[in-house]
Amino acid sequence: MNFAPTEEQAFVVRTVRDFVERELYPLEPELERTGVLPLEIGHAIRDRVIALGFYAPNIPTEFGGGGLDAVTFALLERELGRTAMGLSVWWGRPSNILCACNADQRQRYLDPAVAGTKMDALAMTEPEAGSDVRGMKCQARRIGGDWLLNGTKHFISHADVADFVIVFVATGEEEAGGRARKRITCFLVDRDTPGFTIAPGYHSVSHRGYHNSILHFEDCRLSDAQILGEEGGGFEVANLWLQATRVTVAAMCVGRARRAFDLALSYAAQRRQFGQVIGKFQGVSFKLADMATEIDAADLLTLAAAWRLDQGLPANREISQAKLYASEMLARVADEALQVHGGMGLMADLPLERIWRDARVERIWEGTSEIQRHIISRELLRPLGA
Ligand SMILES: Cc1cc2nc3c(=O)[nH]c(=O)nc-3n(C[C@H](O)[C@H](O)[C@H](O)COP(=O)(O)OP(=O)(O)OC[C@H]3O[C@@H](n4cnc5c(N)ncnc54)[C@H](O)[C@@H]3O)c2cc1C
Repeated sequence: MNFAPTEEQAFVVRTVRDFVERELYPLEPELERTGVLPLEIGHAIRDRVIALGFYAPNIPTEFGGGGLDAVTFALLERELGRTAMGLSVWWGRPSNILCACNADQRQRYLDPAVAGTKMDALAMTEPEAGSDVRGMKCQARRIGGDWLLNGTKHFISHADVADFVIVFVATGEEEAGGRARKRITCFLVDRDTPGFTIAPGYHSVSHRGYHNSILHFEDCRLSDAQILGEEGGGFEVANLWLQATRVTVAAMCVGRARRAFDLALSYAAQRRQFGQVIGKFQGVSFKLADMATEIDAADLLTLAAAWRLDQGLPANREISQAKLYASEMLARVADEALQVHGGMGLMADLPLERIWRDARVERIWEGTSEIQRHIISRELLRPLGA
């Protein structure tokens, strides 16, 4: 085991932290106040990141991306986690699943996504199918040589600014283990496809300026050329490429928690009550000790899971443990950091109330805490035949 960052890793951390602190922190108050990031500011962030040579850092070099390994990418996400999602979304990290593009699709989708000229969104969730993804109602039926897609997706992040959407739909049924189940296929759907509309989603308490959308498909005609991977192989392609996404959620939670903790630590060291700094009261100092310990534990779980991915080792349990622990840790740390600030913690003058609100979604998206516990316990019990 070697816990020392390589020179490249130290450089990535320094570069991203510097960019986030200098260029993104100043944009936070207005974003939080209005809930909107003007498109031209988003594009300016994207262009600055392209100029830095840091766009699409997660995409392997053979596809034109930065080719960071999972550990280094987690370190990058940890730094991006310090700021608001409405800003960091413009630091383009196209979905890794686009690496499954064939040559034609690569030209139309992957290359522009890596170059920053097109943005993707990914749509699995439906009003009646959240955790139970395979229960999806969206379906594409064969009509002649094409497919007709009908149904609704909701909660789809940043689809409002996406040029195309990676959409998972049912394309029939198949038998598995003696039972019928839906065949799931992944399609790449351009924003301006007739029959496809992107409507505003719900107003979320978390992540202002990072909007979710509702997607409607009404007799939306798609061709075979828009299938990513194989017909009926939607989950296979998702499992192959999307496993790492939960690690990035964990890494972002660690970054957010660190920012909240840094504020609490310096406040505890200077705020005076009863004639001494509040950090001297055990009631406050023990909170700091617990926060620091939990953040480090989440960080280590996250980096260990990323390391297993880099080694090509099975990592399902470790990734779920990192996502579960880091997202729950963030909720506790955000709450305690706010408590250390007393009334001031609730005021929008500090980023704490934002971090506290933003923390709430992390236990829900990319698989709820309950679903992560299912995965972890399944992986523990499976070798025992249970
Ligand atoms: C802001 C936001 C952005 C999102 N962005 C995207 C996106 O870009 N693309 C996308 O596809 N999806 C997105 N999602 C959807 C997200 O992945 C789902 O919300 C999540 O998978 C949970 O689904 P659900 O909300 O329908 O809850 P449900 O699945 O209905 O769950 C409700 C409750 O029941 C529990 N539960 C469900 N099944 C079980 C079980 N078997 N055992 C124990 N407990 C269970 C859950 O843990 C939860 O507590 C987003 C969600 C949010 C809130």
